Amino acid sequence: MSSTKKNNNTKGHPKGLYLLFVTEMWERFSYYGMRALFMLYMVQALLFDKELASQVYGSYTGLVYLTPLIGGYIADKYWGNRRSIVVGALIMAVGQFLLFLSACYFHQVDMAKWLMFCGLGLLILGNGFFKPNISTMVGRLYSDEDKRKDSAFTIFYMGVNVGSTLAPLICGLIGNTGHPEDFKWGFLASCIGMILGAVIFQIFKNKYICDPEGNPVGTAPEKKTDDDIKKNKDGGTFSARGITAIVATVVLTLVFSVNWDWIAGNEDMSGGHIFSGADWIGSLIYATVIVMPVLIITDHSLDRNEKIKIGIIYVIAFFVIFFWAAYEQAGASLTFFADEQTNRNIGGWEMPAAYFQSFNPVMLVMLAPIFAALWSFMGRNGIEPSSVKKQAIGLFLLAMGYLFIAFGVKDVEPGVKVSMIWLTGLYLIHTMGELCLAPIGLSLVYKLSPARFSSLLMGVWYLSTSAANKMAGMLSGYYPEGGAVKSFLGYKVENLYDFFLLFVFMSGTAAIVLFLLSGKLQKLMHDN
Ligand code: GLN
Repeated sequence: MSSTKKNNNTKGHPKGLYLLFVTEMWERFSYYGMRALFMLYMVQALLFDKELASQVYGSYTGLVYLTPLIGGYIADKYWGNRRSIVVGALIMAVGQFLLFLSACYFHQVDMAKWLMFCGLGLLILGNGFFKPNISTMVGRLYSDEDKRKDSAFTIFYMGVNVGSTLAPLICGLIGNTGHPEDFKWGFLASCIGMILGAVIFQIFKNKYICDPEGNPVGTAPEKKTDDDIKKNKDGGTFSARGITAIVATVVLTLVFSVNWDWIAGNEDMSGGHIFSGADWIGSLIYATVIVMPVLIITDHSLDRNEKIKIGIIYVIAFFVIFFWAAYEQAGASLTFFADEQTNRNIGGWEMPAAYFQSFNPVMLVMLAPIFAALWSFMGRNGIEPSSVKKQAIGLFLLAMGYLFIAFGVKDVEPGVKVSMIWLTGLYLIHTMGELCLAPIGLSLVYKLSPARFSSLLMGVWYLSTSAANKMAGMLSGYYPEGGAVKSFLGYKVENLYDFFLLFVFMSGTAAIVLFLLSGKLQKLMHDN
């Protein structure tokens, strides 16, 4: 414990939390800054149509959350959290730089596209190393019994949202000017943000990232312990299981890619698909989401209690898919809505559509302390909802946000712009839902995971965001355009009202079912 100090003072929080806060803040600045411009860049500079742009957007945001599985696995087994975070940050910085170059040459569409897809590839890879590992590190700063974890994850989640607040403001201001040649400045700002995060983490990590005893955490796992020898014995079995898993993933990907509608002779294929005839990336994501959790939970080194706890993570993660699929419309269909259907005129000044993406994080940063106080007030009075119920409340609030905006657009003629109140109200209600669900979910996953699998399981948790983001891109394709009627599993989307109600039904149903299951899940959690 040469350069580190003990952090077992239970007042306040260890300094390491604030280092993780700042690092994650810059990384999210970079992610959301690019994301605020990405759709608009594809449509306005590269002249993609909205359906194609939605597909690319959905695939990117889906894959970004698929790779944490790989990053989590490599960290738990070989690199540890620290190294994974630094490697991930540097890869993402290069990815953002390629997007900057793409936007510099957007007139040469072929080259710009090529640079853009290479940049996206690096962002996807880098995020895989970064995201699960920084989240797990938060939990590692505390002892197992420490009750401050929920509040630590809430503070960390505020860091996420400080970055997400600044990103669209800064990148939107310099990148979304109405002139396609300015997109590059927004991407460059994202690149600089990522470099700053990496440098700050690298400089201070040895000093502040330690456990309550002052020992460094997040370093590479030790080699050649008895445990390793046992795992080596299992190694053969794991490879056989690993190969089976890969084969199963490939087969399922193929099955999901088959266009069953076409085989069945169904002519109505408007609006995209969920499981049948999905594009390759969507199919791969859905296949991975099914196969990988099975591979992990059948690992021989897990005992029964550990398996039950991991099973609980899976059940909650499944419901959480419906939260993020509806919530993530923020960067997709809700950006179109802000751009085309919302009156953004404030006293003669036309607010850029990208600014709407700051509403949610600003509200989150403001509301987080209120929610933290509310939970502790309820806790003191014995009325605090369980962690699982909080997830269900989050889903319910999401449905309410869409119900609110559905009323706002009911009977409005296409092309007529509505007041900003509707989108603002939706974001306010969604933010409250997010506070019930997201930080509590991270804390729950950390607490339920066996330590040797914690980053990998964080990767599994992000798999639900992966599936959700892919679904969000697909659902955004139902955004009504030019009077065309699109059909989603028999539900006809003719106008914005129908479109928003789709999300009310989806997240409302998920909320009710999870609420009904919550007692049972909570009991299983405590009994094991
Ligand atoms: N806003 C959160 C973040 O960027 C969302 C994470 C998630 O799981 N979808 O970290």
